[in-house]
Amino acid sequence: MQSELTPYITLVTTSGVLNTFLCLYVFFKRREFPEARLLVWWTALQSVYIFAFAFELASETLAEIKRWGVVEYVGIAFAPVVGLLLVLRYIDRRIPPALAYAMFAIPAVTMLLVATNDSHHLFYKDVYLRPDTPTPMADIIVGQWYIVHGAYTFGCLLAGVVLLLRQWLSTKNSFRVQLFTLICGQCLPMIGSFLYLIGVTPHGMDPVPFILSVTSALYIWAILSTRLLMIVPIAKENIFESMKEGVIVLDRAGRLIDYNRSATGMIPSLRRNLLGKKLGDIWENLTGLPFQGLRMKREEETIMELAWETGGKLSVYQARLSTVRGRGGDPIGDLLMLIDVTEQKRLEEQLTRMAYYDGLTGLCNRTQFMIRSKEQLDLAALRERPTSIVLFDIDHFKGFNDVYGHETGDKVLIHTANVCLGVLATDMLFARYGGEEFVVALRDVTIEQAGELAEQLRSALAATPFSSPAHGMLAVTASFGVATSEASGDSLETLLRLADAALYNAKRSGRNRVCLHEAAGAVR
Ligand code: GH3
Ligand code: MG
Ligand code: MG
Repeated sequence: MQSELTPYITLVTTSGVLNTFLCLYVFFKRREFPEARLLVWWTALQSVYIFAFAFELASETLAEIKRWGVVEYVGIAFAPVVGLLLVLRYIDRRIPPALAYAMFAIPAVTMLLVATNDSHHLFYKDVYLRPDTPTPMADIIVGQWYIVHGAYTFGCLLAGVVLLLRQWLSTKNSFRVQLFTLICGQCLPMIGSFLYLIGVTPHGMDPVPFILSVTSALYIWAILSTRLLMIVPIAKENIFESMKEGVIVLDRAGRLIDYNRSATGMIPSLRRNLLGKKLGDIWENLTGLPFQGLRMKREEETIMELAWETGGKLSVYQARLSTVRGRGGDPIGDLLMLIDVTEQKRLEEQLTRMAYYDGLTGLCNRTQFMIRSKEQLDLAALRERPTSIVLFDIDHFKGFNDVYGHETGDKVLIHTANVCLGVLATDMLFARYGGEEFVVALRDVTIEQAGELAEQLRSALAATPFSSPAHGMLAVTASFGVATSEASGDSLETLLRLADAALYNAKRSGRNRVCLHEAAGAVR
C-alpha cells in the first residue's frame, strides 16, 4: 500500500465503517423506522461506494483501479436516487411506484455503460494513469454518458435539497434538527462532487467518500441523541396539519402549545405569537365567547357545542376536550378538538322542520298539532279547565285548483294561513290539519269564547280576498266547527270528531259560517 495515501485510505475506511454501522443499526432497529428499507439501501449503497473507493486508492495497477471503479458506481449511480426517494418519503410526498422505478433507469444505464466502457467508451473516453503522481492514480476523459449521469445525479441531490428547504420553512422548530441533518446529508456530497468535477479538490481526488464520513457521523448522532425516527414525526405533523378537525394543544397550565391549520380556519385570529398564552385569557378575544363556556374538566372527555362567527357567518362547532397523558399515564395537557357541525345542524333543523312543520304554509303540521294539543288537553284536564278546538275548511277550494290552477290553490292556502295568523295570538296552537283544513287549539277558552274567535277568523277571511297577480281578487271563505272539552276529560280524538261534526253542520247550512258543537246544535 502506498504510504502517501495511507491517511486518506484510513479516513475513507473510517467513513465506510461509520456508514456500514449506520446501515446495520437501522437494519436491526427497522421496526422503529417505518421507512427503514430506503435508509438501509441508501447507507448500503454509500458503503459500497466508500469501500470500493478505498480499494481503488490502494490499487497498484490501472486494471485494478478500473475494476474498483466499476464497483464504486454501484453506489455512485444509485445512491442519489434512493436518497431523493428517502427525502420524498420523509416529507410525506407520495409518488407513484412506477415513477419511483423509472427514476432508476438512468442509473441502470450508467452502471451498464461503466461496466462495459472498454467496448464503447461512452462513459469514459479514456482512463489513464496520471504521470505526475508518485502513487498510481487514474485520470479520466469524460464521455457523453458521463455528462448525462453527472447532470442526473446533481438533479437528484438538488431536488432533495430544495424539497427539504421548503419543508424547513413550513416545519415546527422541534423537527428542524432532523431536517438539518437531512439537508446536510444531501447538500455536502453535492458540493463535494461539484468541486471534484470542476477539478479543485486536492490531488484531483474525489472528496465525497470523506464527506460521507461527516454526514454519517451526523446521522448517527441525530439518531442516537434525538431519537430521530426518520419519517414518523414529519408524517405525523403532516397528518396533524391536514386534519379536517381543528386541533388545539394545551399544557397542564392551560397554555396554548400548538394548533393545526384547520384550527386557524375556524379561529382566524389564532396566531403563532399567542403560543404560550393561557387559552382562558385569549379565548374571548378569539371567539367572542366567555371561557367558562369551555368547561375544563380533567380526567375525561368533555363534549360541548359552541357557535361563533367565522368569516362573517355563524358556524357551529362540536368541541371535544380530552386529557393528554404521558408515557406513565400522568396527565400532561389537554387537547381541544373542534369539528365543524354547521352543515349537520342545518340538516338536522331542516329534518325537524320537515317532520313537524308544513312546508307550504310554515304552520305546525298535523303530527305536531296532535302531540302538542294532547299535552294541552291533559294539562287542562288536570286543572279542570276547558280546552276548545276550532276546525275550519276552505269553501269550494277545489274550484281554485280547477279554475286557476294548483299553484293558485297553493297561494290561497298560504293567504288563508296568513290572514288567520293576523287574528290569532302567538301562543295559540294553530296548524294545518290536512289539505285545506286548519285547526286551532285554545287553552282555558270556553265554547262561547272559541265561537267568537272563530267568527273573527271567518269575517277576517271573508273581508280579505286573495289578490292573485294573474287572476285579480279572489274571494276566500271558510266554514268553522267549534267544540270544547268542558273539563270533562274528553280525548283529543273525541274533541276533533265533535268539531268536525260542527264543521259539517256549517257546510251543510250554507258555508262561510261558524257552528258550535253543543246540545243546541248550530249557531251563527
Ligand atoms: P267544500 O266547500 O265542501 O270544502 O269543498 P272543497 O272543494 O273545498 O272540498 P274538497 O275536499 O272536495 O276539495 C279539497 C281539495 O283541496 C282537493 C285537493 O285536491 C285540494 N288540495 C288538498 N291539498 C292541497 C294543496 O296542498 N294544494 C292545493 N292546491 N290543493 C290541495
Ligand atoms: Mg276539505
Ligand atoms: Mg273545502
